[in-house]
Amino acid sequence: MFLPTSKKEMEKLGWKQLDIILVTGDCYIDSPLVGVSVIGHCLQQAGFKVGIIGQPDIRSSDDISRLGEPTLFWGVTGGCIDSMVANKTASGKPRRSDDYTPGGVNNKRPDRAVIAYANLVRSHFKNTVPIVLGGLEASLRRVAHYDYWSNCIRKSVLFDSKADYLLFSMAEKSVVALANCLKEGLDCTTIRGLCYISKTVPEHGVELPDFELVKNDTNAFIKMFNLFYRNNDPVTAKVIYQKQDTRYLVQNPPQPYLTQKELDNVHRFEYMRDAHPFYANGGAVKALETIRFSILTHRGCYGECSFCAIAVHQGRTITSRSKSSIISEVKTITAHPLFKGNIMDVGGPTANMYGFECEKKAKSGACDDKACLFPNVCKGMKIDHQQQISLLNEIKRVPGVKRVFVTSGIRYDMILADRNNGINYLKTLIRDHISGQMKIAPEHSDPVVLHKMGKPGIETLLQFRELFKKFTKEDGKPQFLSYYFIAGHPGCGLEEMKELKHFCTNKLEYTPEQVQLFTPTPSTRSTMMYCTGIDPFTGESCFVEKKATGREKQLSLLLSIPGFIHNEGTHNKYKHTVRKDEKFGKENKHRDEKCRKSKHTEGKFKKTKRDIDNGRHHPKKSKNF
Ligand code: SF4
Repeated sequence: MFLPTSKKEMEKLGWKQLDIILVTGDCYIDSPLVGVSVIGHCLQQAGFKVGIIGQPDIRSSDDISRLGEPTLFWGVTGGCIDSMVANKTASGKPRRSDDYTPGGVNNKRPDRAVIAYANLVRSHFKNTVPIVLGGLEASLRRVAHYDYWSNCIRKSVLFDSKADYLLFSMAEKSVVALANCLKEGLDCTTIRGLCYISKTVPEHGVELPDFELVKNDTNAFIKMFNLFYRNNDPVTAKVIYQKQDTRYLVQNPPQPYLTQKELDNVHRFEYMRDAHPFYANGGAVKALETIRFSILTHRGCYGECSFCAIAVHQGRTITSRSKSSIISEVKTITAHPLFKGNIMDVGGPTANMYGFECEKKAKSGACDDKACLFPNVCKGMKIDHQQQISLLNEIKRVPGVKRVFVTSGIRYDMILADRNNGINYLKTLIRDHISGQMKIAPEHSDPVVLHKMGKPGIETLLQFRELFKKFTKEDGKPQFLSYYFIAGHPGCGLEEMKELKHFCTNKLEYTPEQVQLFTPTPSTRSTMMYCTGIDPFTGESCFVEKKATGREKQLSLLLSIPGFIHNEGTHNKYKHTVRKDEKFGKENKHRDEKCRKSKHTEGKFKKTKRDIDNGRHHPKKSKNF
């Protein structure tokens, strides 16, 4: 059932006023894969009256006042994707399309959506009930962070938005706890998974270096990031706090991860798997093509790739759904009028992490001093693909299902590490669950860059490739591997890209097509490297290509844009790129100037001795619910 998004729907339900209004940067899609929808249904199940406003017009009161004022709180999220990532390419150019907007034209989501929507609420509802931020955008910006788009270190988004609370990570439990507290008039500040602003220092908390210090001092910023990162596991995390002006940002420990039963419950709601009819005249919502008939089997990711925000947002611990819950969802999907027989994906952040976890981690928290998969698969992780194989087989047998695809990312190092069922799993995928190609993400081939990324080495990739070729040949169908790579990651210069190009041509016999320019999203290890030129985990310096032209050159080199490597500047396409880069350079300069003037961005990084020793240009200032 859709949650109401108009007064008319409220009236049909017999509701005069809502308890909670959720405001989102996406159009409202009712799906278990969309955070705001899940949160809305959780609150409704807990007995609250909830409505949703998707993509309100920030230039008028029409949309935001559509449902009236709630009695308990406004919940504000940027949507499924950080609004800056949704609106700008890695080169800073505007993105034209948006998969979560009806019609696909990217003209509905404001930059820094959570700030824009919090301001929108405040400007039309004076002295209103609390404004609560949530979702990925707020979660990654909950403490001081480097913001790539303004090229500066910003305060917590809670300060910038003037909201009252921020719920980070996956907030099903914390949002219901908050609603209950506000309803009963109780103190909310002890709720786990919640950030708030305090005039005083909390008892027994871990202090992060002050905001004024971290924006001026690289080492303090790195120390801050490490304390933040190490206090992210619900089993071991402590309260952390950081002075940001005269007040403190306080982050309570995260909520415990949902149990299997609780995660199953989240998937039991009656989702419509469609955009709300409110958007019927706006055109197709592209995201539905992939999410409508996809199944999420688990949450979390212990891959911890340095550039990825999943470990910070969802955590390093996997919670898997029960097989019966997944099969029951498949049966529901088969009854959907638009279902033609294809399950588009059975997966999660990484497809093959379903069904097992490290016992030590579940009991006493993730290790601080080592990673689960890097540089090698930890012995504590008893990888076993058996449950996934049997799950995929069972889904295939559900009446009405014709094909079942696995399109989520696959960790090939885990397949190799599973001595019992890894090969069986790979054979199963090749035989039944890929359609012509299997997409994998080695990201690079250079050992130093791979080390910075936290990704396995090329030996593992080549070993996997051989197995894939062998089993594909045995299977008799023409299928192939396609590879994702990243250009412009910290540690990577033109030489490393040339090496990668050479590796692709000579070892993989492959012409890269899927190359992403590194985007420094807030609060990741790679972003810290990009901002400071130092790996925050090891303290080692690393080269960072920051110039837009240099970054584009890396991309062009790998994509074999003709005329670039041997005859720079003569090819039309390359000339075109240069022109755009120059424009971006000017925009950057302009932004930097704006940033300098902004009250949030005063101050500069000091050059550390290490910076000077390396002759590295250091930035003046310094990136569901
Ligand atoms: S023991 Fe290994 S698998 Fe378990 S949490 Fe530590 S690093 Fe991860």
